[in-house]
Amino acid sequence: MASVSHKSAHIHITGIVQGVGFRPCVYNLAVKHQLTGWVCNTASGVEIEVSGSRQDLNTFIHDLQSAPPPLAQIDRFDAKWIKAVYFDDFTIIHSQDQPGDFIPVSPDIAICKDCRQELFDPKDRRYRYPFINCTNCGPRFTIIQDIPYDRPNTSMQSFRLCPNCKSEYEDPKNRRFHAQPIACPVCGPQVWFEVNGQRLAKRNKAVQMARNWLKAGKILAIKGLGGFHLSCDAANPQAVNNLRLRKQRTDKPFALMAFDLKAISQYCNLTDAASKLLQSPQAPIVLLPIKRYGIPIANNTAPHQKRLGFMLPYTPLHLLLLEPEQDYPRILVMTSANISEEPIAYRNDEARLRLNKLADGFLMHDRPIYMRTDDSVFAQLDLKPYPIRRARGFAPNPIRVVQNLPNILGAGPHLKNTFCLSRDHYAFLSHYIGDLENSETLQAYENAITHYEKLFRIKPKIIAYDMHPDYLATRYAKKRAEEEGIPLIPVQHHHAHIAACLADNKWESSNPVIGLSFDGTGYGTDGHIWGGEVLIAGYNDFNRRYHLAEVPMPGGDRAVMKPARMALSYLITSNIALEPDLPPIKSLTEMEIDVIKHQIQNHINTPLTSSMGRLFDAVAALLGIRQEVNYEAQAAIELEAIADPYEEDYYILDIDGHTIHTQALFEAIVIDMQNKVSINKISAKFHQSIIKMVLDICNIIRKETGIQHVALSGGVWQNLYLMSHIIPALENAQFIPLVHHQTPPNDSCVALGQVMVAAHQVNH
Ligand code: ZN
Ligand code: ZN
Ligand code: FE
Repeated sequence: MASVSHKSAHIHITGIVQGVGFRPCVYNLAVKHQLTGWVCNTASGVEIEVSGSRQDLNTFIHDLQSAPPPLAQIDRFDAKWIKAVYFDDFTIIHSQDQPGDFIPVSPDIAICKDCRQELFDPKDRRYRYPFINCTNCGPRFTIIQDIPYDRPNTSMQSFRLCPNCKSEYEDPKNRRFHAQPIACPVCGPQVWFEVNGQRLAKRNKAVQMARNWLKAGKILAIKGLGGFHLSCDAANPQAVNNLRLRKQRTDKPFALMAFDLKAISQYCNLTDAASKLLQSPQAPIVLLPIKRYGIPIANNTAPHQKRLGFMLPYTPLHLLLLEPEQDYPRILVMTSANISEEPIAYRNDEARLRLNKLADGFLMHDRPIYMRTDDSVFAQLDLKPYPIRRARGFAPNPIRVVQNLPNILGAGPHLKNTFCLSRDHYAFLSHYIGDLENSETLQAYENAITHYEKLFRIKPKIIAYDMHPDYLATRYAKKRAEEEGIPLIPVQHHHAHIAACLADNKWESSNPVIGLSFDGTGYGTDGHIWGGEVLIAGYNDFNRRYHLAEVPMPGGDRAVMKPARMALSYLITSNIALEPDLPPIKSLTEMEIDVIKHQIQNHINTPLTSSMGRLFDAVAALLGIRQEVNYEAQAAIELEAIADPYEEDYYILDIDGHTIHTQALFEAIVIDMQNKVSINKISAKFHQSIIKMVLDICNIIRKETGIQHVALSGGVWQNLYLMSHIIPALENAQFIPLVHHQTPPNDSCVALGQVMVAAHQVNH
């Protein structure tokens, strides 16, 4: 046994290496090369000790590095020779926790091809079992209570493995070898159908009953991976309308789920890139252009939209619900189960309480969800995925950054909140939390922060926060800093946007870029509401080079929901006559107009704003598209949707000093309206004017500073008309655009930016 060539190596691997079938892969590779030793999950990754001939060891290391399990993401692979050790065989040994160490946790993964195959195979012992999973798929982040990722640390802890599952779990050649959520109809979780607390059906009969109820136009609460969905037949306008009424959601589009790509392609145009994203292990909602002459879907699923948000079934239960059969719904509405902007319901008892007025029935199961997570949403920009909401399938994957970050908590913004915790080269940007406007969401926010700190062993030494004094996230930051004696660093909202975009693009240098920070609302250093900001910004600092001319917001925040008020404000500040046939004037009473005039003249409840979002609102109202909105950015989205794709003309935005003036723009739009130019053309010309203005400004700044990188961040950049025109325009002018691709451009990126700014400010 003790031959001269006997060598031993110790290998330490970090990254996403747990819950992705890493140990079985190592085991099989070791056995293949006749090596002995052990592999083990630790809280800091995977440790391996192997013995054998030098050549076999080298091949083993090479193979493991070049072909790790498909879902693994290796950050570091350290192998070193150690003193020869002798083992009898190769074993997987029990996980070890090392306090203080940490390891990235795998996100939840959509059902894989093999499991899908078994699900519909009548000969398989998991035939039609709604919780089938394997080492390559299934729940992860949503069921993990602590690391290392082993069954006792998950919400599967209460299910005892049956002999069959146990032998699969222990068999290194089985594809369920050490699959922590392994389950079968004998030993695993079960579904049931429930109405008013009464269980009407169990197991497959429950799924069938749910299908029947959906077919009959009912609204169901369906427990999924990260929480409950509210679901109904998307082709049934009455059912969709009921859902809108109950959920208090007037126009905001609903997400849809279809059995397969073929079903989606009847309604939307699918590119190869979109198909790939839909079928990816992350299985997000993808916003897809509606087919002009496709089969109609109930109009009220997504009113006034050019795109529908579709996803594919990502759990076995979803597949069973949507299995094609004559007369059963082909497309289901699948919207987060909540009222308005409250967090998604995820516990059975809580769902019964909160959803009983919303759902006619419940399809429930007894696998607890530990961390609620919404569905992720992506748009397609130039055939590349463009994140709109980052949650299931992505969180809690960290954003890897070039810089070595101290332990910082970025408390995040008010709307579309996420928070961010950093250590080493990782920024753990949380899953989407939502708008911090009610106590439920605030509770979810605080719980999630506690959970991430525990999971990733991070104790913040600095807290970065938004400058807005009234934000709940800001209050949380200040309270915690005071209680725990942690220093606070305020970060301006639009600076945070640009820093986030830089981190997203792995920007290394301390050199500044041109930052186009265009959004709805952010608190400025002067106490005004910013949002149309051209910054010269690096991680450390920023200079507000240009901004939209400030206008009063009549009634403050109320103007956000009433674009007519913003239109009036722009007309008044531009000295344009308030002709009675202008749509916003028509929509307001004479008295309302007088009150708003009075407010503006006397500076009563009229905060000043340079918001780009409000400028879009005002133009949408002026064109008669929308005088009131019932969800954020609705007017701007509908303005984009009608833009004539062939119009190339633009209006002039005057630039002088630090200010981008809008008077000439509004005068020109009113003249076009009087000349009966179509609103489609006016919308396109307005979009083109923003692009022209951006190019002019970038050229001036490049002349002054030599800067050629341009970062685009803020909710306005969710506008795909703008994006698809501005990127080639910047590139043609030899600028280098930096665009979000791992994090959303909207406020869900702000926490990352806060962390990056704070990290650089403490280091300088
Ligand atoms: Zn699987
Ligand atoms: Zn079993
Ligand atoms: Fe913002």
